[in-house]
Amino acid sequence: MMEQSELRELEATCIQEERAQCIAACPIHVDVKSMMACIAKGDIKGARKILDRTMPFPEILGRTCDQPCLESCVRSNAGGSLCIGSIERFCIENSTEAIKPPKLPAKDGKIAIIGCGLSSMTAALDLARKGRNSTIFTGDSFPGGPLNNLPESILPAETLTKAVGLLESLGVVLDRDKNIDANEFKSIVNDFDAVIIELDFRGIEDFSIDIDKIDEVTLQIEDKIFATGQKLSDRFSPMKQAASGRRACSSVDRFLQNASLTSLREKEGPYKTRLYTSTEGVEDIIPVLPSASIYTEEEAKKEASRCLLCECMECVKHCEFLQYYKEYPKRYVRKIYNNQAIVTGTRQSNKMINSCSLCGQCEVVCPNDFSMANVCLDARRYMIGKGHMPPSAHEFALLDMEFSRGEHFSMLKHEQGKDSSEYLFFPGCQLSGSDPAVVEKLYSHLCSTLSGGVGLMLDCCGIPAHWAGRQSDYDAIKAELMEKISGMGSPVIITACATCYDSFSREFPELKTVSIWEILDAEGLPETKSDMPAQTFSISDPCTARHHRGVQDAVRNVAAKLGFKLEEPSNTREMTDCCGFGGLMFNANPDLADKTAKRKADRTENDILAYCAMCRDNLVASGKKTAHLLEYIFPDENQKIDPLERPNPGFSMRQENRSRLKNNLLEKIWKEEPITMPEYSSVKLVISDEVRDLLEKRRILDQDIQKTILACENSGRKLSNPNDEYFLASHRPVRVTYWVEYKPVDGGYEIRNAYSHRMILPEDYND
Ligand code: SF4
Ligand code: SF4
Ligand code: SF4
Repeated sequence: MMEQSELRELEATCIQEERAQCIAACPIHVDVKSMMACIAKGDIKGARKILDRTMPFPEILGRTCDQPCLESCVRSNAGGSLCIGSIERFCIENSTEAIKPPKLPAKDGKIAIIGCGLSSMTAALDLARKGRNSTIFTGDSFPGGPLNNLPESILPAETLTKAVGLLESLGVVLDRDKNIDANEFKSIVNDFDAVIIELDFRGIEDFSIDIDKIDEVTLQIEDKIFATGQKLSDRFSPMKQAASGRRACSSVDRFLQNASLTSLREKEGPYKTRLYTSTEGVEDIIPVLPSASIYTEEEAKKEASRCLLCECMECVKHCEFLQYYKEYPKRYVRKIYNNQAIVTGTRQSNKMINSCSLCGQCEVVCPNDFSMANVCLDARRYMIGKGHMPPSAHEFALLDMEFSRGEHFSMLKHEQGKDSSEYLFFPGCQLSGSDPAVVEKLYSHLCSTLSGGVGLMLDCCGIPAHWAGRQSDYDAIKAELMEKISGMGSPVIITACATCYDSFSREFPELKTVSIWEILDAEGLPETKSDMPAQTFSISDPCTARHHRGVQDAVRNVAAKLGFKLEEPSNTREMTDCCGFGGLMFNANPDLADKTAKRKADRTENDILAYCAMCRDNLVASGKKTAHLLEYIFPDENQKIDPLERPNPGFSMRQENRSRLKNNLLEKIWKEEPITMPEYSSVKLVISDEVRDLLEKRRILDQDIQKTILACENSGRKLSNPNDEYFLASHRPVRVTYWVEYKPVDGGYEIRNAYSHRMILPEDYND
């Protein structure tokens, strides 16, 4: 199970919840982003609540904010920073107090504050809200200090009066009588438990304290004496004043509690946020300035609408899976952690964990290289290890893999007439399932082009087991493949499928693996290639070729040699999208897999040239005209089949194609007896397009139906429908029960419906 520390580390890698640039740069961290969102939708009260929550004196600071955050605004690169101060002012001028921050129960400790500028007032206000009473010694100044010099139009005098009233209402004592000289200061230090003194307090240089020794984090000058405010030499900044008062309050509160003065204060003042916000594709919009001294509502809304509401979400913007579950990785890892922590009961996140295509795109786009693929794969492995993986999650895909690894497809041969192999062609189960004719021609081409013998290995690379999180099964498959390849003399592996290439080059570093595209690029193309269509295509990289630049380049070179006019779709090469097949997404979440394929298809308006059989078939199924590049290099003899019009073969046909490929090769090349087909394969089915679609969606194969009909016709265990000629029959070959509605027609059976379930019915026990 994921350790707490691992969870924390992963959570920290996803920076989506980090503060927006403006908020981090604000000395008191006003939530500018949320304020802008409220103003943009006309919710002035909502915006005011945000200011009331963070600003010590919103009526003052909302009118005088000197915008130290301005330069950090991400909009500064796209038309100009937001007019944050003017928006705050608009909000304050058009609202009244919306929330009163709470006051905590009273605490001990006598605190003296020397000076009555904004920083002192802030310190007193914050202390009062923490339940600590203080006395402000004003000396000969007026509360607010330099704020008193601002014109009435900027800061009405009554706001300062009200601020003082607020302090007094909270129990702060204002001592306006004492002349604070060096002696008086000493006696205040003696009488009080903590003292805060303003750095520009008149006469401070005569007090026996060294203000050059102030600790920047704690503002401690010595022992119980703390500083606040700005030095006289500093430019007056209301926001810095407020921040300094707030910091002094925090230090004094810690000091009186005997707590650490320094811990967890890194993000107290302005800091550089880790949040990443892309401005790619963001249109430049210049600021909307107020037509008078204060914005009208329309102007304020328009200006606030320029706010980018900064966030990262780079991975979510690209990934259909992350969008489907409406979260971002930081939240997902927490959910996955909680999912693992459940001892009994329903695991809410199982489906989510199994729905990621493990395509790795998120890691490429994330500024911190966060890999949801690794998180989901680890979670799947954990579920398998604990026996928590629902059987249905990947079963269909694993059975398909089993088929490809079985006698009806798996095969290993040296080139006909040779007893050694310099090369071993591994076409993979998906290309063989989608277009067996291309595989035959490609193999013949390789044999005639390459010297030293080109062996053939029909098999599955085992990736479904890897994707399903079944690591020990995957290890066993790899060991078996390796043993067979070693037995052939460890030839150079030539893969036709990007997934096989990715898997072989990662898992078998001791072998040399090359892609068919590199061979075709280097060795030349056959004479038989078809006439190329004149239109422009978009090339579509499969997600498993994401990190294989050499393969991507070779594909483009081959396409260029064929004379194709190519364009790149919006997400290409390293950024490419999954087609919905990766990670067995199609098995765990077919609806999401369809959406994922559709999104990949929608990245371009052109017809697509694919070089992965599953991408081709899934894009075709999504309605996009897509051809496999190999179909143009090795066209059908009469060039009658337009590669762009070839339909998605579907799951059943893919298995049939694999069997046919093996038997064809055995007969034609090695002159051997074909593999005997099982008895059920002679059951002829008549299936309408509509029912075919249904079967594909329900992941029911023709062979499941054939087995069911054969078993029930032989046993006579079938129900007849008195209203028509259809029978209903059920059969449980392994873990799933299939129900088929069928009627005999000329030489076969017409299928009206079929469905499956995992429940065991009483009569199944007798099977
Ligand atoms: S664009 Fe908006 S959220 Fe982003 S930094 Fe600027 S004000 Fe803040
Ligand atoms: S691995 Fe692919 S599908 Fe999974 S979260 Fe990342 S981008 Fe999305
Ligand atoms: S790209 Fe995704 S995972 Fe990475 S920081 Fe942004 S939201 Fe988090």
